[in-house]
Amino acid sequence: MADLRVVVVGAGPAGVRAAATLAAAGLRPTIVDEGIKPGGRIYQQPPEGAERPAAELYGFDAAKATRLHAIVPALRMRIDYRPRTLVWNVFEGALDLLTAEGRMEQLGFDVLLLATGATDLALPFPGWTLPGVFSLGGAQIALKTQGCAIGRRVVFLGAGPLLPLVAWQYVKAGGEVAAVLDATPFVAKLRGAWRMASAPATLAKGVYYTGQLRRAGVPMHYDVRRPRVDGAGRVERIRFEAGGRTHEAACDAVGASFGLRSETQLADLAGCRFVYEPRARQWLPHREAGGRSSVKGVYLAGDGAGIAGADAAELAGERAALAVLEDLGYRFDVNRALDLDGRLARLDRFRRGLETAYPFPSHLVADLPDETLVCRCEGIDAATLRRTIRDKDAREVNRLKALSRSGMGRCQGRMCGLAAAELLAHARGADLASAGRLRGQPPIKPIPIVAEALE
Ligand SMILES: Cc1cc2nc3c(=O)[nH]c(=O)nc-3n(C[C@H](O)[C@H](O)[C@H](O)COP(=O)(O)OP(=O)(O)OC[C@H]3O[C@@H](n4cnc5c(N)ncnc54)[C@H](O)[C@@H]3O)c2cc1C
Repeated sequence: MADLRVVVVGAGPAGVRAAATLAAAGLRPTIVDEGIKPGGRIYQQPPEGAERPAAELYGFDAAKATRLHAIVPALRMRIDYRPRTLVWNVFEGALDLLTAEGRMEQLGFDVLLLATGATDLALPFPGWTLPGVFSLGGAQIALKTQGCAIGRRVVFLGAGPLLPLVAWQYVKAGGEVAAVLDATPFVAKLRGAWRMASAPATLAKGVYYTGQLRRAGVPMHYDVRRPRVDGAGRVERIRFEAGGRTHEAACDAVGASFGLRSETQLADLAGCRFVYEPRARQWLPHREAGGRSSVKGVYLAGDGAGIAGADAAELAGERAALAVLEDLGYRFDVNRALDLDGRLARLDRFRRGLETAYPFPSHLVADLPDETLVCRCEGIDAATLRRTIRDKDAREVNRLKALSRSGMGRCQGRMCGLAAAELLAHARGADLASAGRLRGQPPIKPIPIVAEALE
């Protein structure tokens, strides 16, 4: 057992907690993460030389962030931590890595625990490819890691809890927020609130951010439709409809995204079975008790297997590690596993409340003008996709990709795949599940040609 190769991908809350639990049981896991330091997205750490106090960086979550950051250094003799290392493929019991030094390497595993997290869910709208438009998460990362804003006068547009949070973080940092545009109706927040009451402290934070934005005089609009960003060569303004009127806000940057999207490509390449999850409107790797996947020896934890937030990610990381220990015949704390299952179920109730509060803004897809780019890597617009669906009878996204090249570029459909599936389902008047999911292809993220040439 001593030379058992246990590999955790991802050093966010889920991966770090999983590795710590495995190390505490006497295993020596390897954590591979493309980030420069442990923390994942929510607790992302600035690079050397750009450090700032935790309270400034993580607000209410400073204590949790500091606790998580301390784990990997404290366990450095018991964890093989490999930062700045991308896993770009899974193949027959091994991972293909692009290392911090730019080399290609293979890392074999007996147990693989995927804790790959999520990224912003991007949806196209007119002007979304103009310089000055960022994802909401990108806007937050700029602030968190570099201490800089994406513009002098920023509009935030979206549909999810990151929207008020990032806007508030900008206001708190002294940025000018010209408007917060929520593509979902205000009444949905009231509907979701009773479920979110299962985690009152988190609900209170959301109410606080919105209250602070109002107090700072930031204009906030709900049920925002037909957003359009304009400018000569870069962002100068955004137009939108809300409350039965057309509005315009001058700005030089827009942060926009419409929820989060699980990073599932490695689970796909590992052969995991996927199921359509209607609440998330995404195909996700099937998770059995304790985070076991459908493939023996492959485990799933955190947002990479379904968006549930940072607290749930930490619990799920520990829970999946306990499942690994159980399956390997190690002693593990059954009561702790049951306790984690109960806490995860309570957080799931909160998640349902959030999903009610921020329903998917289907109107953005329905109203998408024909000339808007959907796949920016390959330059494919909505008209081309609609024409391909209609004239060539494309019924699912892989077929649509083959016929139109949408999703065939550098991002491998990570940015446009869900939008293309939504567009396909809408154009056919079919449900989203029938549009299927883009199959993962290696390399799951761009790798430099020079790295391949070195091989
Ligand atoms: C941009 C962004 C900002 C967010 N901000 C907040 C916030 O302010 N507050 C909040 O409550 N929630 C926030 N969230 C949600 C929150 O980050 C997650 O709920 C939480 O971090 C999930 O933890 P995790 O461990 O599952 O994944 P993550 O924290 O996302 O960690 C996943 C890790 O896996 C690594 N990884 C992924 N794929 C690979 C690969 N192929 N090779 C190597 N490494 C890989 C990533 O580098 C990352 O470090 C944010 C999400 C995003 C995407």
